Amino acid sequence: MMGRTHALSGALAWLAAVPVIAQERLIGEFAVDLSVEQIAAGAVVTAGAAILPDIDHHNGRIANTFGPITKHMCKWVCKLSGGHRQATHSILFAIGIALAMDLLATHVVYAWWACLFMIVGLGLRGVGLDFEGKEPQSALADCALALIAVWLMHDLDMSFVGFAIGLGCLAHVAGDCLTPRGCPVFWPMKWRTSVPVIPRTDGKVERWIVMPVLSLGIAILAVRSVLGDVTTTWLTKG
Ligand SMILES: [Zn+2]
Repeated sequence: MMGRTHALSGALAWLAAVPVIAQERLIGEFAVDLSVEQIAAGAVVTAGAAILPDIDHHNGRIANTFGPITKHMCKWVCKLSGGHRQATHSILFAIGIALAMDLLATHVVYAWWACLFMIVGLGLRGVGLDFEGKEPQSALADCALALIAVWLMHDLDMSFVGFAIGLGCLAHVAGDCLTPRGCPVFWPMKWRTSVPVIPRTDGKVERWIVMPVLSLGIAILAVRSVLGDVTTTWLTKG
């Protein structure tokens, strides 16, 4: 699937999960009541995390995000995870990286900012922010935007990042499962899951059905998230 589709699916999964994450009745002490700013930040983080599993592709667009830095990172991840669409495309990876990021965000905030910078940067590249054939300029633009995003989020309560990162990765895996090659969802078991309803990357189904449906879903849920908040404050005022 295309990076753009992955990012959209991540944002949609996040917006759909927001009402669940806030309910103590459902998830007990892990429940987080989210402000509109947090919901927006979560959408950005989840969209970026929905690109993350593809850091196992050393020659892809993602690998070029920050020049040699990301190229080397992707090469190593590819080697360690056993190649493209292996370990990073699994439930275990999603949980592991979600726990790691949650730990950093709550205990080692500078390291978390660095990771956030990387996640937003990869996300921007994944949705197609690059100038054809102009690598240094693309990396610089990406860098600047990622820095702005980190700055905007730096004093926000990020106790929800574990959910956002995990959801983003799972949305990616689910998306790739819809293609003929599938994913080893239950890695380290080798068995691959595939429900090939999207026969070709960037094909007609992805362009004309999957992307519009995802975009529409995001629009509806985003309006609901914001209006939900506005109506509650309006009602409690009276
Ligand atoms: Zn993938």
